Amino acid sequence: MIIVLKRKSSDTDVATISDLVRSMRYQPRVIRGTEQTVVACIGDELSKHSLEALRNLPAVESVFPVQKKFKLVSREYHPGDSVVEVGGVKIGGGHIQIIAGPCAMESYDQFRTAVKDLIGCGTKIIRAMPFKPRTSPYDFQGLKQDGLKIMKDIKDEFDVALISEVPGPAQIEMLVDVADMFQIGARNAQNYDLLEQIAKAGKPVLLKRGLASTVEEWLTAAEYLIVNGCTQVVLCERGLRSFDPSTRNLLDLGAVAVAKHLTHLPVIVDPSHAAGARNLVPPLARAALAVGADGLIVEAHPDPLNAFSDAAQQLESGKFSDFLADLAPWIELARKEYDLPSPT
Ligand code: PEP
Ligand code: MN
Repeated sequence: MIIVLKRKSSDTDVATISDLVRSMRYQPRVIRGTEQTVVACIGDELSKHSLEALRNLPAVESVFPVQKKFKLVSREYHPGDSVVEVGGVKIGGGHIQIIAGPCAMESYDQFRTAVKDLIGCGTKIIRAMPFKPRTSPYDFQGLKQDGLKIMKDIKDEFDVALISEVPGPAQIEMLVDVADMFQIGARNAQNYDLLEQIAKAGKPVLLKRGLASTVEEWLTAAEYLIVNGCTQVVLCERGLRSFDPSTRNLLDLGAVAVAKHLTHLPVIVDPSHAAGARNLVPPLARAALAVGADGLIVEAHPDPLNAFSDAAQQLESGKFSDFLADLAPWIELARKEYDLPSPT
């Protein structure tokens, strides 16, 4: 921590603050500038008391933490790129995955058709959402238990990896045998109790960024997962709440570049919930791969116009191969960054 003292602070002020800092088990180092005095406090900020309370002392102008609030997710801790495996499918370190599937599971036929279409064009991880947390309690909430049965049938038939959102602790046990990856939705991105419980379930986790989370809060949420035993974490940028209704959310691709710099975890992008409109999904998808994302999660439905949720943004699963064909040069570009051979 760095404590900046007010101009004209006296030697007594400096001595008082140094004593306080020592009593909190940090070593103070006083640096006297021409205008101002600064006290650098040496000690592990993550395991000791925060000195931020000293901000209220009359002689103190400001207090700045130096250490980041996350450790295990950082590149200082693990300089290389982590590769996360979801039912045998790799994400990260040059393994670019385009995850896809409907916003929600609506029926056996709807889900099976989407899965068949998407697997047919090479999708290896499918969105399978039997639980659908919605802003309005009057909106379709998902098939719930009936959806779990459909997931089992689809898994038996296609043997494909499935990702499911876990809206609360009660769904962890319900999903643990059928899902290959758990998703933590944007609204739960800072639900620390849920993060801890999900971490202990032993599944890879896709952690969406909160609607208004800073990059630090996003990475610190990932730290909760890792500290609690989940080593297989993928981050997902899905857009922030903004003043501008032109897109549903403001896709923060700068944050993707920053996150790739700060963390070894794979970072993917959800262009569907960012765009809110079908025609905007391809350009946002291309931009995401160009900025260094390790993949995408995209909504695709056999009949988007009649979808029970997010009808405006879902791509048509029967035409997903066109979307992938357009995206191919960007996927190749993202893969080349890592010099991995193209998959066969
Ligand atoms: C979703 O992926 O189904 C979803 C609701 O996204 P988000 O949590 O990012 O809003
Ligand atoms: Mn959706």
